[in-house]
Amino acid sequence: MPIDATSGYDHNNIFARILRGEIPTKTVYEDEHALAFHDINPAAPVHILVIPKGRYVSWDDFSRNGSDQEISGFVRAVGHVAREAGLAQPGYRLLANTGHDGGQEVPHLHVHILAGRRLGAMLSR
Ligand code: 5GP
Repeated sequence: MPIDATSGYDHNNIFARILRGEIPTKTVYEDEHALAFHDINPAAPVHILVIPKGRYVSWDDFSRNGSDQEISGFVRAVGHVAREAGLAQPGYRLLANTGHDGGQEVPHLHVHILAGRRLGAMLSR
């Protein structure tokens, strides 16, 4: 069920619980601003999720309310994770589903890193 990207933060959403260590994940990377882990239901040979440590519902929330430090730290973490996974060459796709029409299911901002094959057209029709 897609979420409303402008709603308040749900402290019990699945990624909040992952951040609190209540649900195990295959962690790829962690620093003060971000946590990266493998998606439980991969849509590509490489499918990593990167989430900010702060409580942001969506890209809309983060870009509006995140501090400059949080935003730069998160963006650098996404690039670092992709680079360390060896994806800068041959390349990868970043995706941040936002809100209902974006198909966002989990109400804590996450960026998908998708890679491992030619990913083809951007949108299904
Ligand atoms: P969205 O549709 O919100 O952009 O993507 C949510 C993603 O979170 C999906 O790709 C889904 O497979 C992944 N996901 C949902 N629950 C869990 C979980 O408990 N652990 C992990 N590792 N990924 C999850």
